[in-house]
Amino acid sequence: MTIALIYHSDCVLHQAGESHPEQPARVTVIQSALEHYPFRAPVAFYQAPLASREQLISAHSQSHVDWIFSISPRNGFIEIDADTWMNPHTLTAALRAAGSVPFAVDLVMQDKAVVAFCNIRPPGHHAEREKAMGFCLFNNVAIGVMHAIVKYHLDRIVIVDFDVHHGNGTQNIFQNDKRVLYCSSFEHPFYPGYEPELDNTHILSVPLSAGTTSEVFREKIQAAWFDRIEAFQPQLIFFSAGFDAHVNDPLADLQLTEEDYVWLTTQVAKIAGTHCKGKMVSVLEGGYSLESLAQCVPAHINAMVMDYN
Ligand SMILES: [Zn+2]
Repeated sequence: MTIALIYHSDCVLHQAGESHPEQPARVTVIQSALEHYPFRAPVAFYQAPLASREQLISAHSQSHVDWIFSISPRNGFIEIDADTWMNPHTLTAALRAAGSVPFAVDLVMQDKAVVAFCNIRPPGHHAEREKAMGFCLFNNVAIGVMHAIVKYHLDRIVIVDFDVHHGNGTQNIFQNDKRVLYCSSFEHPFYPGYEPELDNTHILSVPLSAGTTSEVFREKIQAAWFDRIEAFQPQLIFFSAGFDAHVNDPLADLQLTEEDYVWLTTQVAKIAGTHCKGKMVSVLEGGYSLESLAQCVPAHINAMVMDYN
């Protein structure tokens, strides 16, 4: 029952400007918390490898990948959009972030770990097949999901995305792919804009109004997801783990607490225990309160390996 914790110090060198909320300290604060947390199962630390081109183009167009490589600056910053910037270290950080998830999938699928967490940045769930946006260049989780599909021939994969922003990139990539059940909760109306007409039988969106409390969050998630995930009989479950729906997050307006993340993770872990031997891969997305990240990330990971009997 080993927990794999994957990280790379290259992810610290990416900067999008000094006042940008997606700051290097996010992953260093988390890493420090992980090193000291009393996990209920043994922990193994790993360094994230660089993503291969083949992995990148499993979820993105070749032209998108080529474009990101071509604009990587030698010095200073390049602006992709008002939120999304590259410095000379961003490309390497993004390749570590994208490479961490297929690596995590290998560890879990080859029984070297039961669960894995990727403490990486830049995040990924806003990156569409052909578009970088919202702090994201490559869709890390989508690249990991495609790795599980291509290398392990899985065809029932669940993504639980509890970041406060809608994962437009993940939905874009798996819009017509029934091998993936995409469960996403997010504040609405809010960035980047959610289009309900795009939802279908394998895209389960839970829009939440500003100010949503723990109680309402749990009711809506319970009603929308657990029976559907159970019926899907997942072979592997991913979390797009953003912690910006936390009550203390500076970017959003929901009121979740550490206990809500533990609750959701525990419910999903029970289903994973029934259908896929508890195998889960979780990947950091957003979350901009350093204190909340340091508390919630280890608690979320610990709940992934809860004794579900
Ligand atoms: Zn977010």
